[in-house]
Amino acid sequence: MKALVKAEPREGLWLQTAPVPEIGPDDVLIKINKTGICGTDIHIWNWDDWAQKTVPVPLITGHEFAGEIVEIGRDVDDLQIGQRCSGEGHLIGKHSRQSRAGKFHLDPETKGIGVNEQGAFAQYLRLPAFNVVPLPDEISDDIGAILDPLGNAVHTALSFDLVGEDVLITGAGPIGIMAAAVARHVGARNVVITDVNSERLALAAKVADVHPINVAKEDLNDIKAKLKLAQGFDVGLEMSGNQRALDQMVEALVMGGRIAMLGIPPGKSPVDWSRIVFKAITIKGVYGREIFETWYKMIAMLQNGLDVSGVITHRFHVDDFEQGFAAMKSGKSGKVVLDWR
Ligand code: NAD
Ligand code: ZN
Repeated sequence: MKALVKAEPREGLWLQTAPVPEIGPDDVLIKINKTGICGTDIHIWNWDDWAQKTVPVPLITGHEFAGEIVEIGRDVDDLQIGQRCSGEGHLIGKHSRQSRAGKFHLDPETKGIGVNEQGAFAQYLRLPAFNVVPLPDEISDDIGAILDPLGNAVHTALSFDLVGEDVLITGAGPIGIMAAAVARHVGARNVVITDVNSERLALAAKVADVHPINVAKEDLNDIKAKLKLAQGFDVGLEMSGNQRALDQMVEALVMGGRIAMLGIPPGKSPVDWSRIVFKAITIKGVYGREIFETWYKMIAMLQNGLDVSGVITHRFHVDDFEQGFAAMKSGKSGKVVLDWR
């Protein structure tokens, strides 16, 4: 089969021929139709410090996928051949207290496909049946291939009650944009999204009913005045990983404001903790998605009118994967989807 492999410990990925994986009694074999390129895959392509410390070589990369079940392990009795599916790419252990309490997304033994284990950038993927998420007919393979990052957006956005709230999202990357659409869908009053990249802010405004603010050129206080926010924003969703964005968010929040933080700051970053204490702000770190409650909720929202299709800006056949990665690396794209058929 074709697979996009981190074949050597240096910059790049290589389209190679690899054996079709063999499945165990509790696994399924999925024929991959579409995959999404994630920021994580760019780190692996670039072979940065994190990737060098984390990723074994050689490894088939990729973790965002949609496909169809073509083989079922002996002990799997709840899935059918031909079933369209996506799936959770975090492979959880069964031993930790968190797992045994059903809090699978908090399991410290978690391994990721395409990061620690063979991934989904291939014509076939072996996955534990437990991780499979069947796709209803109305969810396309394109959307199926971006459910993993949509799940990050949904898990973050649903961290706090957003009904009637004024929400500030910092970072209009694909996940920030999808979080904006989710916040509107669940009933936020105003959603303001910030970035320093005007292409991405334009995309945000196309995908969701939000107020885009370029903080490199505009003052966030102006939109607070325009929207007549008495004090500031009730809830912040940090989706940039940028220290200045976090500081700006802390300043822009009301007393007692709440922050859900998905963005990953590079290294240790200085934070003005006294501001957080005196404003009595709650900060929740968010990792991954809830397994499987986020999957349940996002599929239900997609069936009930949530539309994030506009966040996919580029589609390529896998043979042209280099163009797909170049689009992602430009920093101007939304999601980039590769076709494996
Ligand atoms: P992205 O890098 O595509 O988007 C981040 C955006 O933030 C960019 O558009 C960038 O221009 C913008 N930005 C930079 N400086 C800013 C500033 N001062 N103010 C506002 N915006 C600014 O990332 P993404 O794929 O959308 O993911 C969002 C974040 O979530 C990233 O930090 C990513 O590493 C992180 N992430 C975390 C998890 C997790 O499990 N915690 C999972 C996936 C992604
Ligand atoms: Zn991802």
